[in-house]
Amino acid sequence: MKTRMEQMKELLDNRTYFKLVCGAGNEDTEEVRRLSTIYTLAGSNGFDVSANPKIVKASMEAIDKAYELAPKLGIEIPVRPFITVSVGMPGDHHVRKAIIDPEKCVSCDLCIPVCPTDAIPKELVVIPDLCIGCGHCSAVCPPRLDAIYYEHNDKALRDILPECLEAGAENIELHAAVDDNDQILEEWKIVSECNPNNFISMCLDRFHLSNFQLVERIKKAKEIAGDRLIIQADGIPMSGGQDNFNTTLQAIAIADIIHKEFHENKRNKKYKDIYVLLSGGTNSKTAELANICDTNYHGLSLGTHARKIVREYTLTDDFLEHELQMKNAITIAKDLVTMADRVQ
Ligand code: SF4
Ligand code: SF4
Repeated sequence: MKTRMEQMKELLDNRTYFKLVCGAGNEDTEEVRRLSTIYTLAGSNGFDVSANPKIVKASMEAIDKAYELAPKLGIEIPVRPFITVSVGMPGDHHVRKAIIDPEKCVSCDLCIPVCPTDAIPKELVVIPDLCIGCGHCSAVCPPRLDAIYYEHNDKALRDILPECLEAGAENIELHAAVDDNDQILEEWKIVSECNPNNFISMCLDRFHLSNFQLVERIKKAKEIAGDRLIIQADGIPMSGGQDNFNTTLQAIAIADIIHKEFHENKRNKKYKDIYVLLSGGTNSKTAELANICDTNYHGLSLGTHARKIVREYTLTDDFLEHELQMKNAITIAKDLVTMADRVQ
């Protein structure tokens, strides 16, 4: 019988790994629960959730629920999905929460409709559990007001990670899109030590890093993680609202740098087994564009777009009780999950 790490390696080697990103900052238990059930039945191999034992537990229970429903729906779930918990460095967008300063806000309401998670009610007090830190609100808030600021979710990794693993998480992802190399490597060592027997992932984009710095950081991450390293190539974080080639372009650009530097470059043979997941603006076009560009990747990690296409269902309290609604949601999700198979 294969170990869980061997099962995950097989999915990555076959380039069929699909992870649904519930959101590093998403602490809406019910949404995570519904997403985990739908996407398990649709064939997702993993879920990326907030590093909060309560959320991990909700995702685990929802996967169990999917197993319970599967025979009735004529669905076979080949591999139990892996739960990844996301933690982040101070400054990384994935682990921050927006706050509206009532002294500066003029109640123009511009921020309300742009929030993808309905975290800003008409009272203009952000609901922390719903905020995923995407930054759309502060982008539209008039700059002269500067009425929105962010607080970092400051969880001590050595305390929270073992609790999450105990609750059922099997992988850890560090969002490291900030420029302080030394601090990142310290946190990365903690991540590695907490999870010695399964994959660990470093999520990187190029907002703070040049191509050279990106490559150097990956080399250091590999020295610590060995054959357990996944790099999540995070194009433009949380930008997958549009389902087009342009939105997904930057994720593929990062994967392409990694591919040329580590997979193809004979001088870097010792790095050639680095696994790459595409994320950040990923959508139904991602696999197609990556294949057009002949870029190597081992899986897809989808958040904003994947959540949006089933949102009409995940907003409904009792939709798991309605077989027809559930089947519709699963069909939509499955179409996305299997996109990689269609274009290879
Ligand atoms: S727009 Fe994004 S950052 Fe602002 S409140 Fe909504 S989820 Fe949070
Ligand atoms: S956009 Fe800025 S000023 Fe306008 S309601 Fe939102 S926080 Fe207040």
